[in-house]
Amino acid sequence: MNSSLANVLAAEEEKLLACVHCGLCLEACPTYVVTGDENDSPRGRIYLMRAVEEGRLAAASPSFERHIDRCLGCRACESACPAGVEYGQLLEAARQTILPTQRGFPYALLKFVLRTIWKRPALLRASFAFARLFRDSRITRLLLKTGIPRELSPRWDFALLLLEGSRQFARPEGARDEIATPAPVSDTAPTALLFKGCVTDGLFSHVNEATKRVLSANDCQTKSPADQVCCGALHAHAGELEGARRLARKNIDAFRNDPLTPIVTNAGGCGAMLASYSHLLADDLQYAERAREFSARVRDIGQQLVAIRFRNGAAIGSTRTTYDTSCHLLHGQHGGDASLQMLWAIPGLNFTLLEGSDVCCGGRRRDLSDRQSRMPDANRCRSRDRQNEIESLSSGRITRRVLSARRVLHPARRAGKECELII
Ligand code: SF4
Ligand code: SF4
Repeated sequence: MNSSLANVLAAEEEKLLACVHCGLCLEACPTYVVTGDENDSPRGRIYLMRAVEEGRLAAASPSFERHIDRCLGCRACESACPAGVEYGQLLEAARQTILPTQRGFPYALLKFVLRTIWKRPALLRASFAFARLFRDSRITRLLLKTGIPRELSPRWDFALLLLEGSRQFARPEGARDEIATPAPVSDTAPTALLFKGCVTDGLFSHVNEATKRVLSANDCQTKSPADQVCCGALHAHAGELEGARRLARKNIDAFRNDPLTPIVTNAGGCGAMLASYSHLLADDLQYAERAREFSARVRDIGQQLVAIRFRNGAAIGSTRTTYDTSCHLLHGQHGGDASLQMLWAIPGLNFTLLEGSDVCCGGRRRDLSDRQSRMPDANRCRSRDRQNEIESLSSGRITRRVLSARRVLHPARRAGKECELII
């Protein structure tokens, strides 16, 4: 019996037994919708996990590895499940189980990056500095224009798209260049602790600056604890749970000095991960209680603004605008509504709801590993659908969260659409 899966199944046994195999999660699952294979559905994957836990299927079997690997980790199934099966936590344990069995260069690279570079903040900062240098030299743009990366390796193409997409886009002609400085916050203003996020801090620091400005404009002061580290989402999603726990403990220590102050994030993946520390460290005698308190303080920027009663913003023109929700914000933090409330509060905003914005864009599993080549149809299909949805808007603004936003926007721009991204 696999101990990792066995432990998780034991901990979640009540909910697992509550899985009545109703199949209500099937249509919410993007991989099942694309392949029509029950093994690519949440219900099918839970069957496979139970088979491994009960010793009826080897954890190293190709079918277990393939179907667990194909999961996008979007957690849409959790929102659809009437029985409260916490699929995301089961998935992380299943990934922990298959990680040692995964061989080949992409997995070796993934393990090296997670276990070596992500463990050392100085090395991580240096890697991001190098990435920014590479990006700002415009070599990425040049390479993408040639189409060579796409021909050689979809993974390489995706990595370059991601890097190129992290550039702060120039404002469209005629738009205001200057950024307004909010008035100083009042003495009685509430405080929020900003979780910077390693990728956001390394490649999208303008998003963190904008987050501080928006909070300040709404009379909320921001502090950002110096010792914070990566949230551990990359580790947890890859099955490197010990690495995720190590990072979680460091973050809990870094934020311990202001125990009642909300911890604010601007990236759905980070927010959902921080909110799950209570589960991640549930068996840690020293940290379990601290992790529960920490997770209870985590809020998305939208949730924080709603909580402090944000002020309506100034009009920003009548350009057609839409919003694409991040899966982890939606299903992990349940914070999608707060973001929409903020958009609706902008006077005169020409806002159009994006059809299917609650469905995973397919980009999540293409970040560091080999998943793209494993599941080309599903990813291309979602990407194409989303691109069509966006192209049907013709032009305008797309608001979304950090990583996937760029993935959504870039193809639209490549198709010649005049789109501006607001994060
Ligand atoms: S995971 Fe939930 S929705 Fe899916 S089959 Fe089981 S009980 Fe039904
Ligand atoms: S996390 Fe997403 S892709 Fe994975 S089983 Fe659930 S709905 Fe399907």
